[in-house]
Amino acid sequence: MSEKMNIRRDSGQGAPLWLLAELTYRCPLQCAYCSNPLDLAARQEELSTEEWFDVMHQARALGAVQLGFSGGEPLVRRDLEALVGEARRLGFYTNLITSGLGLDEARIEALRAAGLDHIQISLQAADAEVAAAVAGSPKAHARKLAMARAVKAAGYPMVLNVVLHRHNIDQLDAIIALCAELGADAVELANCQLYGWAHLNRAGLLPSREQLEAAEATTERWRERLAARGQDMRLLFVVPDYYAERPKACMGGWGAIFMTVAPDGTVLPCHSARILPMRFPTVREHSLEAIWYQSTAFNRYRGDDWMPAPCRDCDERHRDFGGCRCQAYLLTGDAGATDPACALSPDHHLILAAREEAAADTRSVHELTPRNIHQSRVFCRE
Ligand code: SF4
Ligand code: SF4
Repeated sequence: MSEKMNIRRDSGQGAPLWLLAELTYRCPLQCAYCSNPLDLAARQEELSTEEWFDVMHQARALGAVQLGFSGGEPLVRRDLEALVGEARRLGFYTNLITSGLGLDEARIEALRAAGLDHIQISLQAADAEVAAAVAGSPKAHARKLAMARAVKAAGYPMVLNVVLHRHNIDQLDAIIALCAELGADAVELANCQLYGWAHLNRAGLLPSREQLEAAEATTERWRERLAARGQDMRLLFVVPDYYAERPKACMGGWGAIFMTVAPDGTVLPCHSARILPMRFPTVREHSLEAIWYQSTAFNRYRGDDWMPAPCRDCDERHRDFGGCRCQAYLLTGDAGATDPACALSPDHHLILAAREEAAADTRSVHELTPRNIHQSRVFCRE
């Protein structure tokens, strides 16, 4: 490993708490809302097992305590159990973020033996037909349900994640009923974040305000019903940025507590950031410590010196950090702009225009662009 950065830790910047290990961009599914990069066909290189061990050692030495294994589908890595075992030895709290494809009872047991703390499985819909259309696989839904049951039977605390969009949000009542029947401990009802493939399909995914309000009311009814039943299943409803008046506090601030290592070793402040027009360092060139404290990329949007008006004079700048840099770039072409999701942004009209564009979009779920290698080649640079 070459080491060209001089490390200074006197900036007041604390250590990273979270490491998201994106082990691979390979995945058996083709979700049109996937946040993976459009040019993933050109990014097939993956760190070896030993390199991931080294990344985990470095991250733990820096102070990280939470480790998420994600992708793509992390289960396609045959060394996942070894990686989990090493993470456990290092003292990480580990979470597997999976579609459930590639899981079976034997693998659940092997992951448990390796010390995995937590499994989060994604569901696409309440019924097989919509789920198949969204994921591009007719068999995935039944497999996911079987694996959710197996995970619960193995005694894991289970979070189910459902990405909501206009083609499944009207099923929310049935989706929550299904999650309750599966025995989930918590359900993330996460309105689609519009990055990567989701941004490409944005007009065909964004729900209407009426759909969103109905879904929030359904969630509230279910909270009351679950409380009356004495069933402890937490429901987390994540509102889409495109209907919020203020942006989300993206990643708790740029380079504040969170780092992602992409499959090829590129280190990012969030999993979407490689779309930005900047060069991100890799673990093959620099230590994580140097990248975290010293790299231009991680320092670029820390603090508030970089903020333009209206953020720089706004009392909320230490709460939301000016919103999301990726969303600012995707919508305005300027990663340093105020997130247009903020109603105070001079670019907020772009959000309103996107809602209008979505309202006029009549595509069925079958007509969205699936996330796969074939489609990705269109977006790969020569
Ligand atoms: S969102 Fe779908 S396609 Fe993307 S990584 Fe997850 S399961 Fe695979
Ligand atoms: S102006 Fe900037 S700091 Fe203020 S609420 Fe909007 S995004 Fe947040």
